[in-house]
Amino acid sequence: MGLTPLSEALERILATAVAHPEREQVSLNAAIGRYCAEAVNASIAVPPADNSAMDGYAVASGDVPGTLTISQRVPAGSTPAALAAGTAARIFTGAEIPTGADAVILQEDATLASDRVSLPAAQPGQHIRRRGDDIQPGDQLVAEGQRLRAQDIGLLASVGIDTISVFAPLNVAVLTTGDELREPGSGALASGQIYNSNRFSLTAQIRALGMTVVDGGNLPDDPEQIGDALERVAEAADCIVTAGGVSVGEEDHVRGQIEERGALDVWKLAIKPGKPLAFGQVCGTPIFGLPGNPVSAFVTFALVAKPWLIRRQGGVVVPSPRFPVKAGFALPRPGTREEFLRVTLSGAGEAMRAHLTGSQSSAVMTSLSEADGVAVIAPGTTVAEGDWLEVIPLSAL
Ligand code: AMP
Ligand code: MG
Repeated sequence: MGLTPLSEALERILATAVAHPEREQVSLNAAIGRYCAEAVNASIAVPPADNSAMDGYAVASGDVPGTLTISQRVPAGSTPAALAAGTAARIFTGAEIPTGADAVILQEDATLASDRVSLPAAQPGQHIRRRGDDIQPGDQLVAEGQRLRAQDIGLLASVGIDTISVFAPLNVAVLTTGDELREPGSGALASGQIYNSNRFSLTAQIRALGMTVVDGGNLPDDPEQIGDALERVAEAADCIVTAGGVSVGEEDHVRGQIEERGALDVWKLAIKPGKPLAFGQVCGTPIFGLPGNPVSAFVTFALVAKPWLIRRQGGVVVPSPRFPVKAGFALPRPGTREEFLRVTLSGAGEAMRAHLTGSQSSAVMTSLSEADGVAVIAPGTTVAEGDWLEVIPLSAL
């Protein structure tokens, strides 16, 4: 079997992701990371009235320069009276502009003498935040399928909204396999053992998508136990993610157990890290069989399973941004697969360079943990120091 380009596998896998219709109304405080089930438009203007951008004096610009009587004091939150002709209003940041005033003069530029103040000339509109400068009634604030970030939640709150309709979270089962795996917290390692890290990184990746994790635990390399567990989680979850056991080794039982209860395609993806990837269904529930090596599991989850899960949940998949950065390393031998090299960034602007985070082995988790991003290297290309690379920030992967 030949290698399949990532784009081809992704297209075929994503074509099976039909958005589920379930939605729920949640409070804004519970909405971080969730996907909007409907577009939301503003019903009011923000700011709702003209207000002062500074602490100072509100005047009619035609009355200055000059020395004016201070006729009122307008702190934020108060309702100003109309400005008496030929006077100034003491005003503070965020306070409504009195009718009749059309400019604010900074307090630093004013000279105070008892109840009068000397003020310089002013341009009409200066230091005034106009009604609707930020948002006009009817403006769209968020789109259907958009992931809610802290700034979007603040934007919704700014028009008085306190709840929002989001897609119900998918239940995603995580199941790891391997006789060698020991759970963190369960004691020291015996000979031949390593700690189970994929169970935790995958759980964290799924939770970060606002989805619910069904913990399938870790299973020994035993076909019967793996088969039973697959049936159990297929019942409970909308999708299953497994790590390990999908290569062609004698101890790789996940693949066979899926095939007995459903179907799957196994791809040798033309990417590095992350060659073997299985996708199919077990007892009717979609399943991703990710490679066991921790970096491969992380990267294949991010590149393939994540977009599928987002789309299945009703979200819109936004392609990761790629930034041009010059290589601070050389890669003299061309690879046969598209490579995702873990890099740190140093310097700024033209002097910015991407450096490899040490060993690029798919078993080396520090290469990911230390990385600022991944440099994407096309198959068959070499890299010389100073060549332009495309880097995806790790936060966008
Ligand atoms: P496998 O795909 O099961 O052959 O596993 C490939 C490599 O990844 C082996 O070195 C495993 O020990 C390692 N591995 C598999 N699953 C995990 C896991 N959950 N946590 C850490 N390492 C794992
Ligand atoms: Mg294994």
